[in-house]
Amino acid sequence: MAPNDCLFCRIRDGLIPAQPLHRDEHCFVLQDIHPQAPVHLLVLPNRHVATVNDLQPGDEPLVGHLFTTAARLAAEKGIAASGYRLVMNTLGDAGQTVFHLHLHLLGGRQLGWPPG
Ligand code: 5GP
Ligand code: ZN
Repeated sequence: MAPNDCLFCRIRDGLIPAQPLHRDEHCFVLQDIHPQAPVHLLVLPNRHVATVNDLQPGDEPLVGHLFTTAARLAAEKGIAASGYRLVMNTLGDAGQTVFHLHLHLLGGRQLGWPPG
């Protein structure tokens, strides 16, 4: 999918109004529009990568940055000690609906396991 057709690229570029909770040279953070927990944020690379399957050798620092950013947001949201879940859904069986890589940060309640 061309980034022009990508919802999260359009949000990144300001073509769809949004108020990112964080932005840096590698990633940005959004509040999920349909939160599944008291804290439900999305940590997204600025660069359009459709799925985990599309990551390339050399992307390890980017993926690590998404995780350290999520951990920092978890601390800012006050859920670092109580616990939280980081999830990247990939394609159909996992229920991925937007094909621009994003790390879900979920917390603020007891989360069930195994996931549905
Ligand atoms: P996926 O199902 O691909 O893992 O997650 C996509 C997530 O994006 C869903 O949790 C959904 O609620 C969220 N989402 C869909 N459209 C928008 C939007 O326009 N803005 C924001 N902030 N989140 C969205
Ligand atoms: Zn995109």
